[in-house]
Amino acid sequence: MPDEDTIRSALSSVPYPGFSRDIVSFGIVKGVATEGSKVTVRLALQTKDPAIPSAIHRSVTEVLESLEGVSEVDLDFDIQDPPSGPSQAGSDLTGIPGVKKVIAVASGKGGVGKSTVSANLAAALSRLPGSPKVGVCDCDLYGPSISLMFGTDDRPMATPENEIIPIEKDGLKLMSMGFLLEDTSPVIVRGPLATRYIQQFLRQVAWGQLDYLVLDLPPGTGDIQLTIVQTASLDGAVIVTTPQEVALIDARKASSMFAKVNVPVLAIIENMSYFQCPSDGQKYNIFGEGGGEAEANRLNVPLLGKIPIDIATREAGDGGKPIVLSGDEQNPVKSAFEEVAKALANTLDG
Ligand code: ADP
Repeated sequence: MPDEDTIRSALSSVPYPGFSRDIVSFGIVKGVATEGSKVTVRLALQTKDPAIPSAIHRSVTEVLESLEGVSEVDLDFDIQDPPSGPSQAGSDLTGIPGVKKVIAVASGKGGVGKSTVSANLAAALSRLPGSPKVGVCDCDLYGPSISLMFGTDDRPMATPENEIIPIEKDGLKLMSMGFLLEDTSPVIVRGPLATRYIQQFLRQVAWGQLDYLVLDLPPGTGDIQLTIVQTASLDGAVIVTTPQEVALIDARKASSMFAKVNVPVLAIIENMSYFQCPSDGQKYNIFGEGGGEAEANRLNVPLLGKIPIDIATREAGDGGKPIVLSGDEQNPVKSAFEEVAKALANTLDG
């Protein structure tokens, strides 16, 4: 009889119907047990489509029965309806009206460059062929930074229907939860109130027609992040990490949060990967090496972009114009983000 690891690795060859990702990394395999030559697998998923569990049933049975020593396969499904309101990826409800693809940018901890990635990724997406329409939503109630990165302190207006109109800057539509809060109010918006505020906020923005909406999630993996992930109709998430172990452990928590709600992690983006000395061209791994790669391998997703530490990127961010929108065509961070945007658009639209 194969051991649990062998069974899990066999299960990770089974794709979630309609996705290229497998059922293990999707987080729907909740338990594996063996008894004699019988294997029992517990699976939990949220869907209204009965074809999904039956396709999984067929593929899992076939894969496990082909393992030596297995003569009986028992699958125990826990199937629940997706939460009401806008849907998550993998379910079949509609998302934010007019928005084709919603991508969350997440990190397990602050300071790894999540907002820098959100701003530059959005800018790079908007510069792809066909000039897609792109919006960025800063979901950080307590430390919004997208307005700083795009150099605007404009306050959004509301429509007569009480929808909030995003600010337009550099061809992008920007919205920040921080736009709507007075300086002192974030501290009181905590707990259930924060949850309700975020849900209402996400549903009330008049985005118009967008090809991509980038959600800059607050750092961490608590209730607020989970609420956003469940409220918005996410097509996928990217996780930003630096190469060192401490950032990586937090990145892992972010991956498991998405697995819990069946949102596919599309890629890992490693930021502050190295510093290339301008005088001698030598690369220094200031925050260690190989972290992003290890996490990407663990999740079986691509490592999209190893973004170097770059002074111009920091200055551009602080100066209100993301580096991708600067005129410097030679900048390595700018070209790294252009590659990331191209690859992500291919994954999302392909
Ligand atoms: P987070 O959103 O994860 O808290 P930020 O995007 O605000 O992180 O980045 C934190 C600081 O690091 C900012 O001052 C930003 O300009 C800087 N920064 C981020 N990425 C880079 C990079 N690749 N090179 C240089 N500075 C960076």
